[in-house]
Amino acid sequence: MKTLVIGANGKIGRQFCELAKADGVPVRAMIRDSNQQRWFQERSIETVIADLEGNLRHAFYGCDQVVFAAGSGPHTGPDKTLMIDLHGAVRATDLASELGLSRFVMVSALRAEEPLVAPDKMRPYMAAKHAADAHLRAARVPHVILKPGRLTDEQASQHVAGSLEEAGDNRVSRANVAHALLHLVQNRHLLDREFMLLDGERAIADVLA
Ligand code: NAP
Repeated sequence: MKTLVIGANGKIGRQFCELAKADGVPVRAMIRDSNQQRWFQERSIETVIADLEGNLRHAFYGCDQVVFAAGSGPHTGPDKTLMIDLHGAVRATDLASELGLSRFVMVSALRAEEPLVAPDKMRPYMAAKHAADAHLRAARVPHVILKPGRLTDEQASQHVAGSLEEAGDNRVSRANVAHALLHLVQNRHLLDREFMLLDGERAIADVLA
């Protein structure tokens, strides 16, 4: 029952891998480069080298869930948004479907379904996330779509909210997202569900119920 973590070397990905390891949840960290391996080896976390823009299929063998926490990031252009946030997510979804994985947990984004209300610079990213989510919803693989707000590097409060109204703000720490992902991976009965995630006052298990 191993979880493939796509984007494992990212800020959310690393925190999720550490939490999973500490809780005895088997993960395989998908990284792009052997130079990234050491951090995982020091924590006895299995790695596989694969790329959303290249060879990918082998990374899935032996895994039954996916956490997709990859992203092109704010320092690249719409070309990478298209190839990673959209096409990479679509390829990963299609492989998970084809290989019969039991669940795909997608890190999407708050209000991804409304790209036209996003600031101009964010629109291609939001459109990519929106289309990737739509593809996942229509795929054969059961899914959970997590929609975090604007990410911060605050420490984990492990207290969150499930709507903008409840939170009163649009932010959520990456650490809280990592805890939420751990909860989702451990709660396999959550299927074909979508959750917004913001920093708040309620326990993660309460918001992701
Ligand atoms: P991050 O630190 O930039 O991590 C992104 C990871 O994606 C990196 O490890 C990167 O690999 C990996 N990646 C990029 N291109 C790849 C490729 N071609 N193949 C495989 N992996 C690739 O991001 P984060 O802060 O952890 O956030 C991750 C997620 O949150 C993304 O899905 C993003 O869309 C979503 N999100 C962000 C915000 C926000 O406010 N920024 C809000 C909502 C949702 P390398 O380490 O090799 O570069």
